[in-house]
Amino acid sequence: MKYQRSSSLFEEAQNVIPGGVNSPVRAFKAVGGTPVFVEKAKGAYLYDVDGNKLIDYINSWGPMILGHAYDPVVNAVIEKAKKGTSFGMPTEIETEIAALAVSMVPNIDKIRFVNSGTEACMSAVRLARGFTGKDKIIKFAGCYHGHSDSFLIQAGSGAVTFGTPNSPGVTEGTAKDTLLANYNDLKNVEEVITASKNEIACIILEPVAGNMGCIPPAKGFLEGLRKLCDENKILLIFDEVMTGFRLAAGGAQELFGIKADIICFGKVIGGGLPVGAFAAKAEIMDYLAPIGPVYQAGTLSGNPLAMAAGLAMLKELNENREVFNSINKKTEYLQKGIEQALTSENVKFTINRLGSMISVHFSEKPVTDFASAAEANNENFKKFFHGMLNERIYIAPSAFETWFICDALSYADLDSTIAACKKIAKDLK
Ligand SMILES: *Cc1c(COP(=O)(O)O)cnc(C)c1O
Repeated sequence: MKYQRSSSLFEEAQNVIPGGVNSPVRAFKAVGGTPVFVEKAKGAYLYDVDGNKLIDYINSWGPMILGHAYDPVVNAVIEKAKKGTSFGMPTEIETEIAALAVSMVPNIDKIRFVNSGTEACMSAVRLARGFTGKDKIIKFAGCYHGHSDSFLIQAGSGAVTFGTPNSPGVTEGTAKDTLLANYNDLKNVEEVITASKNEIACIILEPVAGNMGCIPPAKGFLEGLRKLCDENKILLIFDEVMTGFRLAAGGAQELFGIKADIICFGKVIGGGLPVGAFAAKAEIMDYLAPIGPVYQAGTLSGNPLAMAAGLAMLKELNENREVFNSINKKTEYLQKGIEQALTSENVKFTINRLGSMISVHFSEKPVTDFASAAEANNENFKKFFHGMLNERIYIAPSAFETWFICDALSYADLDSTIAACKKIAKDLK
């Protein structure tokens, strides 16, 4: 596979954009090499600037659940654009998509739209703090909730994990309000709560973690968190930016039958345009300005193009719920095929999957939290990634990312992916 034009575009980009990219994971730092510049995409395929056609397992990190350039979404955006692209005034379509989202997702009365998953999570935490009158939050090591200050925190030292900034620019003052716990470790969460007694406003988590590879919640973990939250007057925030409108029409809440207090959305809800949202029961949502005291705003929030794309996407998913079953089956088929390919070459691996979220870890041990994800053999992952890319299969350029399966993938695509895997497996230890 050739990447001449991608390479020269990357060179040019680096002169005027830090690292040549507008979001770090795109730069291939975790796997090395030159990022692929995309020309266009349709269905399950990416077409790069060098004329390569790639099977896409990222799908814009999730939004393209029905495949790229999906006609109803594209047409909705085109028609909307002709009528003006932004007004800074209310529009009918905002109510339409809000009503549809509220009807699809369990346990929410109202929803507010923002422009990214980061904004959704940041605003959800502010709302939780305002509503409870408490300052501290608990997040889990390895869960990602966007790049706002409160979430860029790593485990510090000490018996109970008080956070320390993991990026310059995040203040110690902010870090001290974020407490870290280990994913799938209820006992640890209990210890953190006990140590901070009545100061915790919320626990935020990915109900299925997708930012340390895919890590499903252990049996009883979500139930246990719900119980701890109820006992300690803490709000439970499900960050469903990945899982929302993917694991089921109603997301992880529906799949697991657990009610969260605030739910964050992004990715699929925007149909590929920049959209995030957060939602809850009216009692909580009415704490927001203009009727409540918690301030939150956005010049382009509820933007008509973004709402048109999101509404078209949600309508498709709502009217054809068989889609969720279909992508799950495709992902299961892929999992079995990759398992056989790697096993036949004696490669040590663990595959985690929940529904249409899947990740391959080059580790023999179960991968259940950040520490076990970090133990995997990254050299093998790099070889695997570049091997697959060479076979024109685009998987996430980091071992800590989930692959997102879209319904545009055919079984023939899956078979050629599995065949590529088998070929590459020979070079892995
Ligand atoms: C992608 C993601 C975010 C951040 O969304 P952006 O739109 O990139 O700001 C937050 N939470 C989770 C779980 C995500 O996967």
